[in-house]
Amino acid sequence: MESKAKEILSKYREAGRISIEAKRIAEKTIRPGKNAFQIAEEIEGFIRKEGAKPSFPLNFSINNEAAHYSPEINDSRTVGKNDTIKVDLGAHVDGYIVDTAITINFNPQYNELVKVANEALEAALSIVKDGVKVMEVGAVIEKTITSAGYEPIRNLSGHQIKRYVLHAGQTIPNHGSKFLELIKGRLQKGKVYAIEPFATDGVGEVINGKRTNIFRVVRKPKKKEVEHAKILAKYFKTVGVLPFSPRFLYDKENNDKETIMKDLRKLLRAGIIMGYPVLVERNPNANVSQFEHTIIVKENGCEVLTQ
Ligand code: MN
Ligand code: MN
Repeated sequence: MESKAKEILSKYREAGRISIEAKRIAEKTIRPGKNAFQIAEEIEGFIRKEGAKPSFPLNFSINNEAAHYSPEINDSRTVGKNDTIKVDLGAHVDGYIVDTAITINFNPQYNELVKVANEALEAALSIVKDGVKVMEVGAVIEKTITSAGYEPIRNLSGHQIKRYVLHAGQTIPNHGSKFLELIKGRLQKGKVYAIEPFATDGVGEVINGKRTNIFRVVRKPKKKEVEHAKILAKYFKTVGVLPFSPRFLYDKENNDKETIMKDLRKLLRAGIIMGYPVLVERNPNANVSQFEHTIIVKENGCEVLTQ
């Protein structure tokens, strides 16, 4: 292997190692009564201390929320004694991103639901190799979940990952419906993908929830947008091109929560940043589980970076 490729691989592996440890911290720390803001700060702090950066804000989505709830600044949300929590986190080293998730569940009623999302991920990983159709991966995920009497969330999917781009190129569906003929791709060796089955006892579809607490810069301000340029300049060094949380900008001395949120709303209205709303299962009483790994596809299998 040439040295450039070796260097990239070692950065991916280092990001993977840090994300694995971060998940262990989540498993040890998350208990009923614990505060979500403090847990997110602790885990993201660990990622930074290890010399990586969060690929995106830690997601702490509870019960009916499938994804994209990230604690707000000084969020008072605490873990309930019957909660099912999807902890989705990532680390990147020099832009080489990993993305991984576990479900931490305190309600025995949902043990099966949690188990089946993990089994779907294992089943998907077991068929991954160079040339496998992404639809075949989706079909295995769907079959594993529906066989157990649950639904995959069909409008959430895995994705290819490229340097500094979390959702890049190919999509890896969580189902194998023939109606998805558009998704014709095949996994290719050497490429990096995140596979992330979601299982639910609901309808298998997420819709936008009310809140948005993850954002990303999508364009530069134009010449005439002087005020916007000034605001962005204040934050860009911290937020960069990957998804960010207002927490990343929170600095007790200079930036209070109100100023940050006011600034972000201005950038949002101008279309300079975009928001990722919390995604909730369409059935408000349904629960959701999720597991995710980042892999590098090989000739005859894959290397799982996050386990
Ligand atoms: Mn993820
Ligand atoms: Mn992902």
